[in-house]
Amino acid sequence: MSPSNSELFGRARHVIPGGVNSPVRAFGSVGGDPYFVARGEGAYVVDVEGRRYVDYVQSYGATILGHAHPAVVEAVSRAAASGTTFGAPTEAEVLLAEAVVERVPGCQMVRLVSSGTEAAMSAVRLARGATGRPRVVKFAGCYHGHSDMLLAAGGSGVATLGLPGSAGVPPGAVADTVVVPYNRVPELDSDTACVIVEPVAANMGLVAPAEGFLEGLRRQCDRVGALLVFDEVITGFRIARGGAAEVFGVTPDLWCFGKVIGGGLPVGAFGGRSDVMGELAPLGPVYQAGTLSGNPLATAAGLAVLGLLDAAAYAELADTAGRLGKLLADAFSSAGVGAQVPVVSSLVGVFLGPDPVRDYDEARAVADNGAYTQLFRGLLDAGVALAPGAYEVLFPGLAHGDAELERTAAAAAEAATRISPGR
Ligand SMILES: *Cc1c(COP(=O)(O)O)cnc(C)c1O
Repeated sequence: MSPSNSELFGRARHVIPGGVNSPVRAFGSVGGDPYFVARGEGAYVVDVEGRRYVDYVQSYGATILGHAHPAVVEAVSRAAASGTTFGAPTEAEVLLAEAVVERVPGCQMVRLVSSGTEAAMSAVRLARGATGRPRVVKFAGCYHGHSDMLLAAGGSGVATLGLPGSAGVPPGAVADTVVVPYNRVPELDSDTACVIVEPVAANMGLVAPAEGFLEGLRRQCDRVGALLVFDEVITGFRIARGGAAEVFGVTPDLWCFGKVIGGGLPVGAFGGRSDVMGELAPLGPVYQAGTLSGNPLATAAGLAVLGLLDAAAYAELADTAGRLGKLLADAFSSAGVGAQVPVVSSLVGVFLGPDPVRDYDEARAVADNGAYTQLFRGLLDAGVALAPGAYEVLFPGLAHGDAELERTAAAAAEAATRISPGR
């Protein structure tokens, strides 16, 4: 018999800090022990005790086709049989880079890395190197991975833990990072190397860009000669084939990708205009490297996923997300719970408060009311898994169909009756 969740968590806490390898996986803000996943099947995860959950975590958006999709399993197995890493270039890297350039309007070159953190960190270094300027402007509540300079007001796990930032980041590391409120266009000066933004914020719950916000950032950057960086680690290849740049018609200078692009394996990428990307070593003076960058298993998985994301797939994703958003909103309104359920393409957010949320301060006020924990626990008891933190979003994917939505609707209707904000 396999060990229970609590037995595993007990052992994990002895050898892994907090028992988890990424803080967002801990149940600190929602209480109880995390479930340990034995396997995933499409829209479901099954824990070591045999409990099955409709899974809206989906590795925080990395598995858009659902778990263990046959095309991904096959691509990864085949790649593994030919060797897992070489330290020399492979064809799959070229194919994946071409797939990105072909899909994302304005992105002319990409470099593959192994995580979203690396992508954002490298994009900012490149922006600083290319402009010869120090300053980075980011938005409160936007998460760009855990590199020192980008951890300020980072939303997601940092916010869930109630941390202002991170210990171990010296003042010097963030001295050139300016944090401003989301959805307001800041006035830039000529020290600004870049503005980095989640074009749809998905690490403070789901917050869509206000009308004119992204266009305003583009204009401000152009006015002072700063680069605009879209962190599309969540939105890339998810909200549309060409990501946010396609949806909103605003073209940044640099992009960061992750999650979907790796098909559930460790891949990130950053890309942009050729003249900017040409500043990277070995062509230019900005150094960036990685032993496992463009790894054969990861590139095979990414290619398999991108290959299946056609127009019909995007239509289905948006339809599923729309239905999920509506059933959740209906459940809350039937139970008399004030809630906002924003939906942007295939992303769904839940704010259990009466008013629309436009920035991090407003997101925090709602997250602090405790209602999300009640929703989370009610749904989990009924076999529906959300991420264990109020700042995360739901990731319905192509594996979520009628049966899963019906099960979610029933669970949400029941869970909503047990929500009382402020308790
Ligand atoms: C998840 C995320 C990252 C970091 O990616 P990792 O692969 O976890 O390092 C960066 N930016 C955004 C917008 C993300 O959601």
